[in-house]
Amino acid sequence: MNKKIIENLLEESGISSFEAKVEAMMFIKHYLNLTAVDIAIEPEFEETKELMHAIEERTSTKRPIQYIIGQADFMKEKFFVNENVLIPRPETEYLVLSAIEDIKKYGYKKVMDIGTGTGCIACMIAKNTDAQVIGVDISLEALEIALDNSSKLGLFNKAIFRKSDIFSNVKADEKFDMIVSNPPYIKLSEKPTLQKEVTFEPECALFANDENGVEFYEKIISQAGDFLNPNGELIFEVGINQAQYVKSFMEQNGYGNIEIVKDFANIERVVKGRKI
Ligand code: GLN
Repeated sequence: MNKKIIENLLEESGISSFEAKVEAMMFIKHYLNLTAVDIAIEPEFEETKELMHAIEERTSTKRPIQYIIGQADFMKEKFFVNENVLIPRPETEYLVLSAIEDIKKYGYKKVMDIGTGTGCIACMIAKNTDAQVIGVDISLEALEIALDNSSKLGLFNKAIFRKSDIFSNVKADEKFDMIVSNPPYIKLSEKPTLQKEVTFEPECALFANDENGVEFYEKIISQAGDFLNPNGELIFEVGINQAQYVKSFMEQNGYGNIEIVKDFANIERVVKGRKI
C-alpha cells in the first residue's frame, strides 16, 4: 500500500485531487502514525483494517474525514469534533486573529464567544491572550466537546463554558470587553445546494431561518450593548454578501469604528465595531 493508492480511491469517489492529497495524509497519520517524512523515506506501508474501513466510509458516504477520525485542525491545533458540532473552518482563523489583535491592543480582559461549538474560537483566544473567555452554546452536546478541547489545551480557567441561548443565561450585571461570534448564517433556501459533506453537520450550527441568513446577527447586535463595557467590541464572522448589512445594522444600533476584514478568497469575512 502507498499514499498514491489512497489518493486515487478518494479521487475516484469524486473528492478533488487537492483534498484527496490532504486527506490521504490525514488518514495515514491518524491510523498508522506515519508522518510525511516517514513515507518520503519509505513510501510503501502495511495497511490496517481500520484504515481501509475508514477510507471506505469516507468514499461511500461522504461523511467528512474530521468526523471519521474525530478531530479537526484549527490554527495548528487539533480539536475534538463529532456530529454535534460544526467542523472548524480556515476562514474562522481571520475572525480569531482579528479578535486577538484587538484584545492585545486595547487590553481587553473578558470575552464572550456566542455559539462556541467546538470551542475553537474561545480556546484560541484564551491560549493567545491574557483574556478569560466564556463560551456559550444552546447545545449541551457541543459544550461537552468544547470542554474536552479546552482541557486538552490546558485552558481550564481561561476558557470556560456555559449553556445559554445567546444571552439567556448571562446576568444583567455581567459585562464583557469583547463579544465574538461565528453564528449560523446559511440561508435555509441554500440547503439543497450544499455539498454532501455539509449535510452531516448539525443544522442548528449551519442555518439561520430568515431569508438573508442574518437572524442571529440581528439578535446578537440588538442585545449585545447591555453586556458590553463602554468602548467594548462586537466582532463577527459573516457569510458571503452579509458584511454590508451587518455593518449597517451595527451602525443603527450604536456601534462605531466599523471595520471589515477580507479572507484569502477576498470575501468580506469579518465585521467588527465598538460600542459608542
Ligand atoms: N463557533 C464555532 C466555530 O466557529 C461554531 C460555529 C457554528 O456552529 N456556527 O467553529
